[in-house]
Amino acid sequence: MDFQNSFDHFVFDLDGVIYSGEKSIGDSPRVLETLRKDRKGIRFVTNNPSRSPSDYARKLRELGIRSHESEFVTSPMATVSLIREKLPSERWKTVFVAGSDYLKKEMSRTGLVELSVDDSHGADLVVVGSHPGFSLEEIKAASIAIGNGAGFIGTNGDHFYPCEHGRAPATGALLASVEAASGKKALTAGKPERYMFDLLGESGVTPTGKTLLVGDSLRTDIAGGKMSGYRTALVLSGVTKKTDIESSSVKPDFVLEDVSFLLQSQ
Ligand SMILES: [Mg+2]
Repeated sequence: MDFQNSFDHFVFDLDGVIYSGEKSIGDSPRVLETLRKDRKGIRFVTNNPSRSPSDYARKLRELGIRSHESEFVTSPMATVSLIREKLPSERWKTVFVAGSDYLKKEMSRTGLVELSVDDSHGADLVVVGSHPGFSLEEIKAASIAIGNGAGFIGTNGDHFYPCEHGRAPATGALLASVEAASGKKALTAGKPERYMFDLLGESGVTPTGKTLLVGDSLRTDIAGGKMSGYRTALVLSGVTKKTDIESSSVKPDFVLEDVSFLLQSQ
């Protein structure tokens, strides 16, 4: 497969694809620069709810990768879409947000009034997204509000992310603790749900045969991309091992060691 000449748009997951921690993967800066020179459309989609597009643009710049804030689709953006879809049938007026400042800023676009942790027990809706300073107080406030009848939405369902020494808890792990305490199950907005893919479509990157979605997770990137009609490439530089593919019902169109292989004819 000649990826460069076969596709007009490339959609990249970030963690495990473009970088791992603070290091780029598989010469991703050169891959992206080459695709830009070829005038390919580029987008980045990430389930990590703690950073804003300007944060990501800065992080990529530090790795030597050019990007524009408008190229990022995040799970907090998807959460806004999910809430807007639900609002006509729900009586939500107030929200308690257990998450980053960026998530709170996105939530302000829903028109819901944000309640502080002190008033959170009476919230109509609770939104949970992991962030570096996540606290037991946030889990407690979220659990109480949901137990009192609040709606319950998580930015994404990822259970863990790989860190230097092993698995670190992601939003899905935090949701599990709130679910256990409240007895209620969260709705989630990030990949594999369709909301981020709908936002991609709205930004002009539709699932024609000329768009390739590149991700490291079968469960989120590849399953979600396939459900939304995108062609998909799994990279083995992140959370998925080759043996995982055989045991999974989710089959990517292509399997690559890392993003460098996009510049080679297979
Ligand atoms: Mg990833």
